[in-house]
Formats: sequence, structure tokens, C-alpha cells
Amino acid sequence: MRTALQAPAAFQGALVEWFAAEGRDHPWRRTTDPYAVLVSELMLQQTTIAMVRERRYFERWMDAFPDVQTLASAGEESLLKLWEGLGYYNRARNLQKAARIIVAEHGGVFPRRLEDILALPGVGRYTAGAVASFAYDDPAPLVDGNVARVFARLFDFDAEIDSPAAIRQLWSWAEALLPQRDARRYNSALMELGQRVCTTGRPACLLCPVKAHCTTTRAEELPRKKPKAGPVLVTEDVLLARQNGRLLLSATTGTRRLGMWQLPPLHGRPAGREVWRGKYAITKHRVTLTLFEPAQTVVLQDGERWFTLAEIEALPMPSPFRRALEAALSPTPEAG
Ligand code: SF4
Repeated sequence: MRTALQAPAAFQGALVEWFAAEGRDHPWRRTTDPYAVLVSELMLQQTTIAMVRERRYFERWMDAFPDVQTLASAGEESLLKLWEGLGYYNRARNLQKAARIIVAEHGGVFPRRLEDILALPGVGRYTAGAVASFAYDDPAPLVDGNVARVFARLFDFDAEIDSPAAIRQLWSWAEALLPQRDARRYNSALMELGQRVCTTGRPACLLCPVKAHCTTTRAEELPRKKPKAGPVLVTEDVLLARQNGRLLLSATTGTRRLGMWQLPPLHGRPAGREVWRGKYAITKHRVTLTLFEPAQTVVLQDGERWFTLAEIEALPMPSPFRRALEAALSPTPEAG
């Protein structure tokens, strides 16, 4: 393992030059509005660029909530609806909490100091660095999964990169290599190198603009991570209850999906015919979701209501339930 690059300026130059010629154009790269940058960064946590772009999540959010004032005063249901399909809904709630703090404590002006950005809900060290560098072009370092992978290979670093000591080392490289000028372009370039060239699995070393600076001979084995525990298997049995063209839904409970609507759990009610079964994954859980017709007249429980299909279309609903409902109600339901 090496601890420093021999020619950091040449590394920075090669990276930025490559990015100027090859960098992708994304909607969030056309703005330096720190609020818009924060929106894109929270969206892109846990979600791929392709998904955010294909379904225009960023553009639709910015059309609906173009500034912190609009977001601060929006109803929670409207923001959850716009986030539907991205999962991890606390990110949307945190965005609204951040907007409210900016309105209440910063006079509606997005903070400039790194400590103030870092104090916003949902903002960790990476996100604060992204906002400070992408919006303000401030020399703020950042390390995300892509950058960690690039550094692990660049320095032939074989520690488990999710250990506290390795995280400190990665951040210290990020600080040491960061140029004092043009941090926006440099940080974007570093992340994009990890996304498109120094990828997981087999990196495209022959096309790599910083190949001359890279010290590893075992790129495909790096980075190393702590072994993960196996998935937790869960079953989720719910009712597909219909009445006069309406469907029964229940308000979700628990913090993760709070404020959304889903098919109601059986809650001890007898299940009739199974109408659909499918699987989905959420964090470490592998869930088998089964929809049953009710075996007898449904007695409503707390938080349950009948909705028309048009009303359901407009409600925020976790995407596994949305997909299950669409499949179960389609003329030729397919098992998922
Ligand atoms: Fe990654 Fe290969 Fe470039 Fe090294 S040469 S930084 S391993 S893509």
C-alpha cells in the first residue's frame, strides 16, 4: 500500500481533463443552487442515476418544490407521492425538515458554512462536501462508495473499507488530493471515474485517465469489505378487499413508510383465496408478499379506508404494494 501519490497535481489534471471531455451531463450538474444540489444528492443516495433520470424524479421534484420556501410549506403526502418508487422515504422527510430549518433559522437562505450544512437533517459528511463543492465550488472533500473504491485501488489499500480506521484513511486521502481551486469539477470527476471506469467487479483500466498514478495490480479484488450477514426472510400477508369498485387500504405504521398507504395486513382476519404472490427486497430483508381475498365480510380496523382506483393512483404507496396491486388487478395477473 502507498500512502501518498507522487504527483498529485498531475493526477488532478488528468482527472479533470478527462471529465471535461467525457463527463456526463445530468440535470443537477446544470445548477449551482445548493438546495437543488441537496435534493439530487439525497435522491441519489441508495438509488441509481439511471433510475432518477429515467423517471425524471429530480425534474418533477424541482417543478413541484422549486425552493426551500415551497418545500417547507408543502403537505407531507405530496412529497411522499413524488418520492414514490425511490424508497427510503425518510430522505424526503429530511429534505422537508432541512427546508423548514433553513426558513426558520437561516432566513430562507441556504447556509454556506460546512458546519451549518452538516447540521441539516439527513446530511452526513459526504453530502455536506457534495453541496459545498458542487454548489459553492468550495474545497470540501468527499468520499462516497465510488470514491472509496477508486482510492482503495489507487493506493492498493487492502483494509476493509467500512472499518473506522479505513474510513479515516479514505477521508485523509480525499483531503490530501483535493485541489484548492475547481473542487466542483474535481469532485465530480472523481465520482464519475468510480461510476463509469473504476467500477465494481471489473474496472476498465485500459481506458482509465489516471492509470499512470494507480498502484494496484489486483483491482478486481479491491476494495475489501466486512462480510455481510445473510438476508432475513420475512413473509407479509395482506388483504385484497374490494367493495363496490373500491379497495381497502390502511395507513402505514412505523417510521420508514409513515404517511403512506398500503394493502391492509390480515391482523388475525381469516384469509380466503390467494390472488397474488411476489418477492421484494428492502435493506437486509427478503420479503414474500402475498395478497389474499378476505374469507368473510371485512370489519375495518384503525387506519383503514375504502378508496376508488383513481384515488389510489394519487396516494403515496410503497412501490412493492403498487406493483403487487397492478399485477393482481391486471386482466391476466402474473406471479411475481
Ligand atoms: Fe481504477 Fe484501473 Fe484506473 Fe486503477 S487503473 S484507478 S483500478 S480503473
